[in-house]
Amino acid sequence: RSNYRNLIIGADTKIPLYKGQYTTAINFDNAASTPPFVSVMEEINSFAAMYSSIHRGTGYKSQFSSKIFEEARSIVLKFVNADPTRDTVIFVKNTTEAINKLSYRLWDGNKKSVVLSTWMEHHSNDLPWRNKFQVDYVQTKPSGKLDLEDLENRLARHQGNVKLVTVTGASNVTGYVNPIHKIAELAHRYNAKILVDGAQLVPHHSINMNPKNPLQRIDYLAFSAHKMYAPFGTGVLIGPYETFEKGVSESVGGGTAETVTHDWVVWEKTPHNEEAGTPNLMGVIALVAAIKTLTSLEMKNIHDYENQLTNYAYSKLKSIPGITLYSHTSPAELRIAVIPFNIKGVHHEQVGALLSNHAGIAVRTGCFCTQPYIQKLLSITSRQMEFYRKRKNVPRPGVVRLSFGLYNDFSEIDVLAQHLERIAKNPTSYR
Ligand code: PMP
Repeated sequence: RSNYRNLIIGADTKIPLYKGQYTTAINFDNAASTPPFVSVMEEINSFAAMYSSIHRGTGYKSQFSSKIFEEARSIVLKFVNADPTRDTVIFVKNTTEAINKLSYRLWDGNKKSVVLSTWMEHHSNDLPWRNKFQVDYVQTKPSGKLDLEDLENRLARHQGNVKLVTVTGASNVTGYVNPIHKIAELAHRYNAKILVDGAQLVPHHSINMNPKNPLQRIDYLAFSAHKMYAPFGTGVLIGPYETFEKGVSESVGGGTAETVTHDWVVWEKTPHNEEAGTPNLMGVIALVAAIKTLTSLEMKNIHDYENQLTNYAYSKLKSIPGITLYSHTSPAELRIAVIPFNIKGVHHEQVGALLSNHAGIAVRTGCFCTQPYIQKLLSITSRQMEFYRKRKNVPRPGVVRLSFGLYNDFSEIDVLAQHLERIAKNPTSYR
């Protein structure tokens, strides 16, 4: 059993199955959202007594809340080893909002500069760039891993016109971890900045925005609290103050202006000019509590344990006839606990439904907001996608995804393997 299981709320919740029996829920969908840490819920509960609207209140509780909210920024910076003299923390609602925000700040309005994204990005790190930049996509290899040679070729081809290289720290489809410092070095050599979409990496592996070699520094980082055991609608955008100090945020209103007349506005200092409206104080409290717990457990231990789970699941799945795995790494290679697969002759949605209805196992099926990458992994063209789009009654292609959290057990993987074996043999055996 996982040593971390007691740290989680709801790890042993009983849920109903299709035929009315009850079972303990098994959650293998942690890449979407994680359940809360007990410590997070306790902190929310105990902080509630001091909770008050922040920044403009004169009352004691309001001032206390404001102080805690501002202190949270340095805790977040420290967690990812950002540079507090250079970098600011902007609290947003999630990674998607963080990336959209940055896309507006970097936009030069003439759509001439290039953003180099990749074939393995979540839509949230692809679509925000499309209407503001020329977006070019770094290829993935047949294995699904990022092609670094292609990255360098593209940087060279655009002749210094690449403003940003934007890349996921770890894939939400294959679990591959990208060599972000190597990528940073390449980007900086060509005078480009780098954004790391940390939604999947940050909850599962330590991240260092400031390694010794300054060329390898990560300029921007985005991540979401709801994937790191603090499911309360908070995300983070980290980057240099100077990016956000000039000009006007894409989202303005209460809290963003220092002086407003009907004729002119003086904007608040960064990061306040970027946080329009009443901030999500409880969400930030939850994020800080989760960071404290993750730090005390040590990210290395968490990663090691999750890696063992992943290797175990791989070995189980590999031995089941009819299963196709879409990601492969050697055990020594860095990866996060995400495994995509299909069962021959059984649609991915059916696999998900059978696992849920008959075994109480939650997985995710489909394309996980990463459609181009899945299309590539499954060798499906844009033209074929048109076909699927037009024929609503034809099931769409996709995969089944397992994603583990620190509280998952080896025994849960055994239960999964038993059911997958049964589904692979005969999916109608459950009727
Ligand atoms: N990037 C990646 C790699 C993700 O996995 C996700 C969430 N599935 C996101 C971005 C978007 O995160 P959020 O929904 O919290 O904005």
